[in-house]
Amino acid sequence: MSVLEAFDLYRFYHTGEDETLALRGVSLHVDAGEMVVVMGPSGSGKSTLLSCLVGLDEPDGGHVELLGKRLTRRPEAERAAMRAAEIGILLQSRNLFEHLSVTDNMRLQMHLAHKFNRQRLDDLVEKVGLANRRHARPAQLSGGEAARAGLAVALSTNPNVLLADEPTGEVDAETEQDILRLLASRCQEGGATLIVTHSDALAARADRVVRLFDGRVVNG
Ligand code: ADP
Ligand code: MG
Repeated sequence: MSVLEAFDLYRFYHTGEDETLALRGVSLHVDAGEMVVVMGPSGSGKSTLLSCLVGLDEPDGGHVELLGKRLTRRPEAERAAMRAAEIGILLQSRNLFEHLSVTDNMRLQMHLAHKFNRQRLDDLVEKVGLANRRHARPAQLSGGEAARAGLAVALSTNPNVLLADEPTGEVDAETEQDILRLLASRCQEGGATLIVTHSDALAARADRVVRLFDGRVVNG
């Protein structure tokens, strides 16, 4: 069984007279222990796809299943509970609350999922190389540190699925390798991972690459 599966997703945006066909029949799946990379030019629908996959946005057609259970077309409270319990999310807008420190951001995420674990928090903050920045607030972090803090928050609940939009977008090559190692070890432990990226280094490590163009999956 796939951990996360999308069936024929459609998403249209209307602005005045204009209609944008952001997703036109996208299907994909991510299995346990698998790292799937989604690539495609700007505007091809990658971020729209991620939002639909995690239930932050509702597709106009098709549906998403999380661990075999339909996520689409449920009340937001139910989607939020499924999301908190099973999914780690790192969107482009980042997932950090500005008034909370790195570890308080992680702690909050864990509490929302009813999964607070002090040991895991300490291990993870160490793994992402932020042990000495654990009390810093997001505004006090460099771009690379903020990216790693965001990843630590997304991974804090040890989610079945991790979805990340450009996790290495603004980081140096060394930080990118750190993040890659973290993602690889997660997959070895059986976690499912889906990453939107332009990074060839990340794509080279993926089990599969899904290419989007104009809201459709193109071969490869
Ligand atoms: P990508 O992440 O691949 O750059 P997006 O999913 O952000 O692509 O966008 C896909 C298409 O949908 C683009 O043409 C974009 O302009 C449009 N779009 C995205 N979000 C909205 C929105 N909230 N309202 C109107 N159009 C949108
Ligand atoms: Mg995007």
